[in-house]
Amino acid sequence: MNHPRNLEYQVLVGQSKTQLELFAESLGEQSYRGRQLFDWLYHQKNDIIDEMTDLPALFREQVKKSAIVHPLVQVTQSDSGSKQTKKFLFQLQDGNQIESVLMKEKDRTTICISTQVGCAVNCDFCATAAMGFIQNLSAGEIVDQFLQLKKLSSGPITNVVFMGMGEPLLNYKNVIAAADLLHDPDGINMGAKRITISTAGIIPKIKQFTAEAHKYKLAISLNGSTQEQRLKTMPISAAQPLEELLAAATCYSRENKTRVTFEYVLIKDINEKIEDARRLQEMLSPINCKLNVIPYNETGGVYARPDDEKIQTFLSALKKAPFPVTVRWSKGVGIDAGCGQLATKTG
Ligand code: SF4
Repeated sequence: MNHPRNLEYQVLVGQSKTQLELFAESLGEQSYRGRQLFDWLYHQKNDIIDEMTDLPALFREQVKKSAIVHPLVQVTQSDSGSKQTKKFLFQLQDGNQIESVLMKEKDRTTICISTQVGCAVNCDFCATAAMGFIQNLSAGEIVDQFLQLKKLSSGPITNVVFMGMGEPLLNYKNVIAAADLLHDPDGINMGAKRITISTAGIIPKIKQFTAEAHKYKLAISLNGSTQEQRLKTMPISAAQPLEELLAAATCYSRENKTRVTFEYVLIKDINEKIEDARRLQEMLSPINCKLNVIPYNETGGVYARPDDEKIQTFLSALKKAPFPVTVRWSKGVGIDAGCGQLATKTG
């Protein structure tokens, strides 16, 4: 059942320091009480109001009456066979659902978080696209995925990637607000370079991100070595042409003095030929970048993963590339937690 989104009570997770100061004032307290709440929620990561013992008892009672802490409720959890990857289903206050993934690899724990319910971009190979666009997540709904997974993770979360359901740059304001909350040194204090925002290539938003000089990492899904090839799987390329996208990426890496990551989902009979690898090398060589090749995770649709020999041939053709090339052998494919596999039934 869906519940209205215009809630009468406040949701604390997602609120900035200033917003929590105003919240404290609205309850008749001084603004520094809001800063204390900020510290409890994001720095100490404690969501039990009664344990926030440096707040006056009366204020704690008022907070409990007028606010809830988390905008999300965990519904289910599925583990991959190796237990290295876990997928979580969360429910929003209005009944819609989203997924997040937690991946452990040696001393690195990465979470992949969603930014929208569904997605409007309609990449042909993506399970989320089949849901269509339902709604943007608020900054709180985005950052709460971190806070809830933090509690469930056996070790510290070292990296956050905005690569779950949705196109992050089409929910720009809330995504930046969530990244700022993750990064705030008085709060969660995650290094900016440990936060990666991914995009299918929304050129005006990449330009805005560059102009605003955000320090978060940017990853662009390329998925094709020519405009025609990109168009086959990513209809959005019609309005976001490859040449302009590469120019925007070049500008971003130059202005922000940082490396841009290109993601390349490798799909059988679509973009896995040796010529594609050569074109990629030529096209990306002038850019300060890294290429991340992701063998396609099958979702039961028309696309398939290239066989291992083809994948190796493709990678060998990039051996002399002047930029780093990595391969993401997606974990969690068996639980539909691999790249492009996230999708939920909505409530
Ligand atoms: S790959 Fe990303 S941008 Fe494309 S449809 Fe899926 S969620 Fe949206």
